Amino acid sequence: MNQTLVIIKPDGVERGLVGEILGRLERKGLRFVAAELRTLDSDTAAQHYAEHVGREYYENLVRFITSGPVMVVVVEGPPDTWQVVRTMMGTTNPLESAPGTIRGDLATVMAHNLIHGSDSAESARREIGIFFPQLVS
Ligand code: ATP
Ligand code: MG
Repeated sequence: MNQTLVIIKPDGVERGLVGEILGRLERKGLRFVAAELRTLDSDTAAQHYAEHVGREYYENLVRFITSGPVMVVVVEGPPDTWQVVRTMMGTTNPLESAPGTIRGDLATVMAHNLIHGSDSAESARREIGIFFPQLVS
């Protein structure tokens, strides 16, 4: 799998960081196959975050991701591009993310950590299918 799904979350769009974040991915050498600015409905958000159902933060997570426009992007590169993007994102909690990573450099709040990236080849395939079904066969 050499494609992965990236979402610049509502905080990233609101803060005007779409260019900064996507620019980092471009400068790394990754390419964009599809991109769309859209506001997610709760069904799409629930499908995307299905693995988190039942967690104490789940409702906040869905409320936040549907709270404003997000930039949804299919990113392509070498095999396991999902892993390249995850490394560039940094850990989930931005307070612990290494400097040089997107979250480490640009965020401080767990719930507002700017970017989503698929966490496996399997997730990448599933998530691209949710947002850009025409790209998966
Ligand atoms: P993402 O899926 O958004 O790329 P991630 O894979 O680093 O982030 P996940 O474990 O999949 O992290 O959690 C999804 C999102 O849910 C996180 O980005 C974070 O905003 C939120 N989240 C996860 N764990 C917690 C928690 N313990 N408290 C509050 N929010 C959380
Ligand atoms: Mg995740």
